[in-house]
Amino acid sequence: MSTSTTARSQGTVLVVNSGSSSIKYQLVDPAGGDAIASGLVERIGEETGAVKHVAGGTTTERELPVADHGEGLRIVLGLFDEVGPDLSAAQVIAVGHRVVQGGPVFDGPVLVDAEVERQIDELSPLAPLHNPPNLTGIRVARELLPDVPHVAVFDTAFFHHLPAAAATYAIDREVAARHHVRRYGAHGTSHQYVSHEVAAYLGRPVEQTSTIVLHLGNGASASAVQGGRAVDTSMGLTPLEGLVMGTRTGDIDPAVTFHLMRNAGMSVDEVDDLLNRRSGLKGLTGENDLREVHRLVDEGVEAARVAIDVYTHRIKKYVGAYAAVLGGVDVIAFTAGVGENDDVVRALSLAGLERLGIEVDPERNAGRKKEPTVISPDGAATTVVVFPTNEELAIARQAVAVVGA
Ligand code: AMP
Repeated sequence: MSTSTTARSQGTVLVVNSGSSSIKYQLVDPAGGDAIASGLVERIGEETGAVKHVAGGTTTERELPVADHGEGLRIVLGLFDEVGPDLSAAQVIAVGHRVVQGGPVFDGPVLVDAEVERQIDELSPLAPLHNPPNLTGIRVARELLPDVPHVAVFDTAFFHHLPAAAATYAIDREVAARHHVRRYGAHGTSHQYVSHEVAAYLGRPVEQTSTIVLHLGNGASASAVQGGRAVDTSMGLTPLEGLVMGTRTGDIDPAVTFHLMRNAGMSVDEVDDLLNRRSGLKGLTGENDLREVHRLVDEGVEAARVAIDVYTHRIKKYVGAYAAVLGGVDVIAFTAGVGENDDVVRALSLAGLERLGIEVDPERNAGRKKEPTVISPDGAATTVVVFPTNEELAIARQAVAVVGA
């Protein structure tokens, strides 16, 4: 994060991401792209919560009980008053809220009103872990900051117009329609931001560029983007489908669920918990963080070596599939915690794809990348880039577009 003291003609945006027991926030200068302040409230509703506020090079940390999201946000606003920056001087022109599931309703950011709140609530069955806390965050923020417009930015919006061939599950059409079963995708804000910004960075017109974005964080997803529009993505009805993740399986035969329910006596909730929270790298090695998995590999743990093979094999399959969907790929962009930092994963995921025009230069690839970095050799048919994502900035810019500042 960089800080800025320069004048901001356009004003700032407070970006809020409310989880079930946490509130992440960032005060963003959408024009310059700087984060002016950021922070995190954790363990909301538990005996002791934790608050961390970073501004002007100073970190303020507090341990105190935080009863609910309303109290959490009140504490955050108190910290802005106490240690700065002063929110009235910062000219907050909008609050941008991350909302995970926009379902079949939202194909872009919207100004929040009572009707939008109702619709986000109605979409909760499609994202039971995410939409309810997202909505709680919106409600308390609107109460505490009533004079500023609030904008909801949906993680699914970039994939709203996926071609039917990519969005449709081959199940009974009436069942699918009645229960809104389709592929919605997720991480859309990041995929949109990276696919567009990487084209600009490479000096290519986005309208004429075919890109695969590999968003590899604790959650992980791939997208195929053609001419700036998403044409396929790896996450489905929920963020469980697709790549292997920190704690999620990614693609798996759905019959595993029936098998475990019929033969292992597991309930729906137990299988849900297994596939979402006790699988992926965590299930294979006991660790969900790739740094820890590499440490286990160094200690000679065979299961950890296999886990990295499973993880990167899945990425490679998606790269091949999306190269086919796109009819050839101009740019591959690695982003998020793993994509930006893990050179081993990047190298293994694209190894052996030279005949597709995809190559990684070991020297360029080496190490963590805090700045956009081309890691393919000069003259390669596909330009491979590490491109840091910035979801907060993307949300801030979408909020500005809605309020028309
Ligand atoms: P994110 O969800 O984008 O914040 O990414 C978090 C994940 O990034 C962690 O769980 C790690 O697996 C991974 N990560 C972060 N730093 C590193 C690193 N230096 N090397 C490898 N993986 C990393």
